[in-house]
Amino acid sequence: MTQESLKTDVVIIGSGPVGLFAIFECGMLKMKTHVIDTLEFTGGQCTALYPEKPIYDIAGYPSILASELIEKLEEQAKPFEPTYHLGQQVISVQKTGDGFEVETSKGVKISAKAIIIAAGCGAFGPNRPPLEGLEEYEKTGAVSYMVGKKEDYRDKKIVIAGGGDSAVDWVLSLEGIASHISVIHRRPKFRCAPESADQLKKLADDGKIDLVIPFQLDSLNGENGKLSQVVVKDLDGNKKEIDADHLLPFYGLSMELGPIANWGLNLDKNHIAVTQSTCETSEKGIFAIGDINHYEGKLKLIACGFSEAAMAAHAIYPLVHPDEAFHFEYSTSKGVSK
Ligand code: FAD
Repeated sequence: MTQESLKTDVVIIGSGPVGLFAIFECGMLKMKTHVIDTLEFTGGQCTALYPEKPIYDIAGYPSILASELIEKLEEQAKPFEPTYHLGQQVISVQKTGDGFEVETSKGVKISAKAIIIAAGCGAFGPNRPPLEGLEEYEKTGAVSYMVGKKEDYRDKKIVIAGGGDSAVDWVLSLEGIASHISVIHRRPKFRCAPESADQLKKLADDGKIDLVIPFQLDSLNGENGKLSQVVVKDLDGNKKEIDADHLLPFYGLSMELGPIANWGLNLDKNHIAVTQSTCETSEKGIFAIGDINHYEGKLKLIACGFSEAAMAAHAIYPLVHPDEAFHFEYSTSKGVSK
């Protein structure tokens, strides 16, 4: 384990959309940032769960793909030269004389005057089906819990398992790209938007996809991580083999606060309670923004997270620049400068 020791003004835990915007807001107030994320990439849920879906409620963008929003947020943050530490989880936060020291799972230690926790739902990961030999197929990408690029699935035979919005949305998105799609669900009713359920039924009625219902996953056939068949079984144990290049199980996410639960902050049902006007937690100098925080009337929307990033940055300013009076300025008058 390496033992780097670094120093900055603000450590941002989480590089989802809200953490990325916090880099910009801190930068505009002349505060340097280091950003840490467990995942190997930035963008949080937008990148991990729905990169190719359009978002319709980002101000100024009638429609923007989740992946494009993340690119734009990174571009907006870039002038402030944030340092990213990806692929490592923040495991501890300790109070020091004039701030805090965070430590990551890779042994990197960073001291800062303030901390912004933008950790979304905490450490999140997919619920994996209990199938023998699963890991071998996960390593090659034959079994995957997210769709990075739709083009990777062109002309492939795909099995999508699950009955919620994600499963159904990806069936609708990949139809016409994949050569064949089978949908495995253990009951006839899908738990998704009614319009999506109607579209799914139409695709099945038109013979464009196969609904394999009521069935559940049983096992995988293939060799050296190359999938050839997904075996499913019904409630009586009758089995069916489905030819497949890829299996995409969408059984929801397991969300855990992880180490954050042990940092002594006031929690409210797995969320961090904050003062709404500043997003400060019960610990002075530690702020929480985006999906992870809670206050009365909280909306888990990217738009709300953006506003919280601005409020937290303004509240942090006096901690980083105690001797400088704060003059509120619009970005139009001060421009974007380090
Ligand atoms: P996240 O995006 O969850 O990012 C948090 C990051 O923190 C993650 O990358 C995680 O790895 C990291 N992290 C957690 N714990 C640690 C730790 N200890 N150390 C290091 N890193 C850590 N919102 C909208 O406004 N409009 C929409 O249309 C919309 N559509 C959606 C569609 C879907 C399918 C889903 C799942 C969500 C949708 N949302 C939408 C919700 C939106 O994605 C979230 O509100 C948003 O991602 C929250 O951003 P965040 O930065 O707070 O957290």
